[in-house]
Amino acid sequence: MIVFKLKALVWAVVGMAIGATAQAAELKVQHVTDNVYAIVGPYEQRNATNFANNATFGFVVTNDGVLLVDPGGSYKGAAQVDAAIKTITDKPVKIVINSGGQDHRWLGNGYFKERGARIIASEAAVEDHKARTNDHFFMLTNLMGKDALAGTDAVYATETFANELDLDFGGYRFEIRHVGSAHTLGDAFVWMPDTGVMFTGDIVYVGRMLGIGPAGDTMSWLETFEAMASYNPKHIVPGHGPATDLKRATQETYDYLVYLRTMIGRIIENGGLIAEGVNIDQSMFKHLAVFEQISKRNAQNVFMQMEFE
Ligand SMILES: [Zn+2]
Repeated sequence: MIVFKLKALVWAVVGMAIGATAQAAELKVQHVTDNVYAIVGPYEQRNATNFANNATFGFVVTNDGVLLVDPGGSYKGAAQVDAAIKTITDKPVKIVINSGGQDHRWLGNGYFKERGARIIASEAAVEDHKARTNDHFFMLTNLMGKDALAGTDAVYATETFANELDLDFGGYRFEIRHVGSAHTLGDAFVWMPDTGVMFTGDIVYVGRMLGIGPAGDTMSWLETFEAMASYNPKHIVPGHGPATDLKRATQETYDYLVYLRTMIGRIIENGGLIAEGVNIDQSMFKHLAVFEQISKRNAQNVFMQMEFE
């Protein structure tokens, strides 16, 4: 794969308080190229301070308003995302794309819909949202508490597509593609041919170790990644971590999945047990955030999945 160098990145720290009692949480606005920005949330778990914005979002400032990829993980989280956008432009968010099934990909929809935005997602993502609505609210109530979650409703995308949707908006073209499951069942990427930017949602993690998601099909995740990479993007706005290039996205997501599958596949072929799979050496990825919390669980999930392949 061709190696692209990242431009110097301009970081602005956006700290803002939502409501009287909430502490300021940090979202970083990162200029990617032209009118394209990433909003980079923390790697930490969802909590009452980050409003479930522990992920990366992306937006494009166009002649006709803002297109936002992923609205944040709650109503108040969406207000934070909106405030981050407002540090760059006063134009309103006109289109929100939900790139996948996780809470931070869709539970901010209500905030932007109230303000007149169109909401777009793959059919598979919306099915996933509907199937897991109760799980999401249960999890977020536990992790954030009721106050931080206040105002959040299950608002589903109203414009859906099976596999492909091409959108011309504000002078740019957006090609939205759902290839197959990756982290979740309905993951989609958004390609901007005019700028060479690819928004990947949870198909790509950088800086932190990915989690084998509810979709659980790592082969499909690899195929989806390959389809995304075939566009040869100059810039990648990932689902977690800062905007990056294809080389780093490959090293920290694709290569990690391949490594897990290779090592665990060997153990299964040799009739090894799950304990052996859980304990494979992953130390070459230990620089990634949340390694301690998640690496063994990933190996366990891959083992359980590959047993049935
Ligand atoms: Zn995510």
